[in-house]
Amino acid sequence: MEYEERFDKAIQVTGVGLFVNLGLTVFKLFAGIVGNSAAMVADSIHSLSDFLTDIVVIFGFQIAKKPVDESHNYGHGKIETLSASLVGIMLFVVAGQILLFGLRKTLLFAEGGNLEQPSLIALYAALLSVISKEFMYHYTIRQARNINSMALTANAWHHRSDAFSSLGTMTGLGAAIFLGGKWVVLDPLMAVLLSIIIFKVALKIFHNSINELIEASLDNETEGKIRQIIRKTEGVKAFSNLKTRRIGNNIAVDVCIKVDNALDIGEANRISIHVEHSLKKTFGPYTYVLVKAEPYVREPGGKPEDGEIPEHPVNPEKHETCLRKQPD
Ligand SMILES: [Zn+2]
Repeated sequence: MEYEERFDKAIQVTGVGLFVNLGLTVFKLFAGIVGNSAAMVADSIHSLSDFLTDIVVIFGFQIAKKPVDESHNYGHGKIETLSASLVGIMLFVVAGQILLFGLRKTLLFAEGGNLEQPSLIALYAALLSVISKEFMYHYTIRQARNINSMALTANAWHHRSDAFSSLGTMTGLGAAIFLGGKWVVLDPLMAVLLSIIIFKVALKIFHNSINELIEASLDNETEGKIRQIIRKTEGVKAFSNLKTRRIGNNIAVDVCIKVDNALDIGEANRISIHVEHSLKKTFGPYTYVLVKAEPYVREPGGKPEDGEIPEHPVNPEKHETCLRKQPD
């Protein structure tokens, strides 16, 4: 899939979510007020924050879609990461709101207070919310996998956490409407439980995107695959100083390969290009690869060929390597 096409798809999928969230906000707010349900009003405020989040995400995609330019040599992929972290933050806020709301009502009940009984329209709104949100989860996660987008995956899980939270609201509302009496407390208790689930989702999204923003290395499995590709490339005797990171949907690899010191510069360059092509073949054409070729000098009692050698040479004075680049 082409670079721009991928973002157009992401914008389209998020746009569908935006309209669903807007529709749910309006209907749930109406049902909450008419149906005398504070829980449904809170649920509608949640949908409103989701609607606002969608605007942020679409804005993020619009910018991330811009190709590499003179002042952004690595593209704009990180903006997608930044919007994912904003979704994480907003989820934290919403989870906190639901938690406080649920705790307050539960405390009120525990102190012998009266919780008002909601009416059926609030229950219908909750049912509609559960069905449409679960549908949106499946729709969004399928598209997220198609275009391999972290921001879209985050949004899909958000849809599901919305479905769960509306399911909680629905259960509580059902008990409050049909059983009445002390069952009314199920509504706020369910809200407390659901807020914890949303906290967990928010933490995961936030953790992943912040790690990417601070240039964390790729996971062990991916790095292992990269090592294997470099090691297998013909002419590479050893390598060192492998550095990896993620830029939006793409990965970046820096590596220093060691080649036979009898080779001329053209041959050494061909091996470097071969490493680059092999990596791009596996990780996609938009992989950022920087390969430096150096003559292979076997350390006294050193490592066997075709292996990764330690990042710190035995004698840095003797080996002018890319690991020890002094400022000019
Ligand atoms: Zn939500």
